[in-house]
This record gives sequence, structure tokens and C-alpha cells, in this order.
Amino acid sequence: MSSELPTWKEIPIAGTILEPGNSVKYKTGDWRTFRPVIDQEKCVRCLFCWAYCPDAAVKIVEKPYRTQSGREYQFSVEIDYDYCKGCGICANECPAKAIQMVEEVK
Ligand code: SF4
Ligand code: SF4
Repeated sequence: MSSELPTWKEIPIAGTILEPGNSVKYKTGDWRTFRPVIDQEKCVRCLFCWAYCPDAAVKIVEKPYRTQSGREYQFSVEIDYDYCKGCGICANECPAKAIQMVEEVK
């Protein structure tokens, strides 16, 4: 967690948010015990994981990918581990079973 975050004594009463958009500073990935790993070969780029992720931790990146069987994609899907809390919803919803939850090793 960043050292610029307020201590509990500095947090406004009732946790009022005074600075919109400040959630980007809170790297919720620190809590994770399992991490989702995407198999780019199996991923069909349907973006269900992107739609279902409650932390907006699924990224669409401009990385073209060609599978071993010759399927071509113009983008790839990756996980932002700074914010992924490891809930496993993406793995549960992925219709291609392309996401495995693996134990986090720190
Ligand atoms: S494990 Fe949860 S938080 Fe992480 S990318 Fe999947 S749905 Fe999002
Ligand atoms: S839900 Fe599965 S197949 Fe669809 S984009 Fe995400 S990882 Fe790929």
C-alpha cells in the first residue's frame, strides 16, 4: 500500500469521500490469496471476464495474438494484478475455461 494514503486518524468522519476517483490509489490486489491466470490459447476474447469483474481489473490490451491453430486476434485480455482481489468470478464466468485460479505465492 502506498505511503501517501491517510492513516485512520486522517480519514474523514463517516468515511466521506472528498476526492472523487481516489479508489485508484487503493491497490486491492494486496488482499489476494489466489490469482487468475489467462491461457491466451484458450481465450476467445468474448470479454465476459471484463464485464463481470467487480474491480475492473481485466484489461483489454493492444497486443495482437495468433494461436497455435492459426486464429488471429487484434487484442489480448490481461489481468491488472494491482487491483485484482482474486475473487474468482472471472474464472467462474469464462465460457472457454481459459482462466485458472492459482495460489498466490509472495
Ligand atoms: S479474480 Fe475477481 S477481481 Fe480478479 S480479475 Fe477475476 S473477477 Fe476481477
Ligand atoms: S471470459 Fe474467458 S474467453 Fe472470454 S475474454 Fe475472458 S478469458 Fe477470454
